[in-house]
Amino acid sequence: MNPRLALAVSAGKLAGVAARRAGRGGGTALPGLVAERVDPGLVGHLASQLQRGRVTVSGTNGKTTTSRVIASILEAAGMPYVHNREGSNLMRGLASTLLGAAGPSGAIPRAVHSFGLFEVDEATLPLAVPELRPTVLAFTNLFRDQLDRYGEVDTVFALWSEALAKAPRDATLVLNADDPSVAELASGWAGPVHWYGLEDPSFSTAAAGAADARWCRSCGGSYRYERRYFAHVGLWRCRGCERRRPEPQTAARDVTLALGDAAFAVEGAGSLQMRLTGAYNVYNALAAVAVARVLAVPSSAIIAGVGAARPAFGRQEVVEVQGRRLHLLLCKNPAGANQVLLLLASVGGEGLKVATLLNDRFADGQDVSWTWDVDYEVLAGKVERCWAAGDRAEDMALRLTYAGWPRCDSVVHEPGALIEAILAGSEAGEDIFVIPTYTAMLDLRAELVRIGAAQPFFEAE
Ligand SMILES: [Zn+2]
Repeated sequence: MNPRLALAVSAGKLAGVAARRAGRGGGTALPGLVAERVDPGLVGHLASQLQRGRVTVSGTNGKTTTSRVIASILEAAGMPYVHNREGSNLMRGLASTLLGAAGPSGAIPRAVHSFGLFEVDEATLPLAVPELRPTVLAFTNLFRDQLDRYGEVDTVFALWSEALAKAPRDATLVLNADDPSVAELASGWAGPVHWYGLEDPSFSTAAAGAADARWCRSCGGSYRYERRYFAHVGLWRCRGCERRRPEPQTAARDVTLALGDAAFAVEGAGSLQMRLTGAYNVYNALAAVAVARVLAVPSSAIIAGVGAARPAFGRQEVVEVQGRRLHLLLCKNPAGANQVLLLLASVGGEGLKVATLLNDRFADGQDVSWTWDVDYEVLAGKVERCWAAGDRAEDMALRLTYAGWPRCDSVVHEPGALIEAILAGSEAGEDIFVIPTYTAMLDLRAELVRIGAAQPFFEAE
């Protein structure tokens, strides 16, 4: 074993112990940070041991859920894997995960038989790919994130192209055929591509929301849609050139959505049921199924793994407070919010009670004007009662007024005050839909933990 790697691993593990002793909680980033300082090639050295294959999952929305479904499938198949499940999808998080999997000498047990499964942040991908040397690169979708985070969709596309230029030539791309921006990644790729997509005409919508891919990257032409599922995702075709939505090898048909679960069929794999819902989660599960098929996982394990998958933290969690069921539906950006609203519009029924939480801290996007790209209008007439909360509760309430929602019951900043207002405006046995931005979700959840309604983060995971 490489002595520098062994030293880096010991130093990283020691830093982890020290951080835990100092009561710094999970401390998922520090061990990786320290170890990488000792051996800058740490991630590559450790990842190269995972000889069964290495999978990266990237995309604006859905990478956490997709990775979790893949993990669940590998679990069901009894295939060992290393996964950065704890959250950090930046280089130091990947380093910490691999470090955690390695023994004191730097050797990962059962590595020859193991897969690596890595959720990778969009901007980190060009750094991670040369180290991880993925055998499969999966992409979920490309939407505009909050305005001030990564800038334009074009910037992210350029980062992904840069990553692909550094990827092993024989790696397989797993691409969403229905997202024209993701599909464009195949243009410069000589290796194998596995496409996945939705084949369900009943699912097309007129309330499409803001589209983040208006023009073809090859010719500058605009897109025409034979069918649109949401935003710019659907059966697209370029008006200017020959580009059109590719035929998917892994296609979902007969999709049915309910409030807490969904079902769909994949030709060659069978009928799948899952405890995740929303069209966006059908796409996430479908991406996972496509990856599993590329990895030659048997269909029985795919069906079992999809069925056993659980929503990620705050993404579709139901928390009970004095008999009210609070459905936490995280919305990190306009596309994510639109998908949640479409789900509520299609299966939520009438007389909805909805709380929206808007923060403007770094992880939320500091410019809240993105809320004007969200179609809160799709719920006009369906919302009976609503609450606005978070640091920017007033902006949220104003936005909802323009969307035709009733006047908010209360406009508050503190999560504790929101919970009180919800309790005052609802009865036991009712469903309340809670739509928070990222840090607002963390704050609300912390309050729910404090009052004993929810489990702390690490236990819930
Ligand atoms: Zn074109």
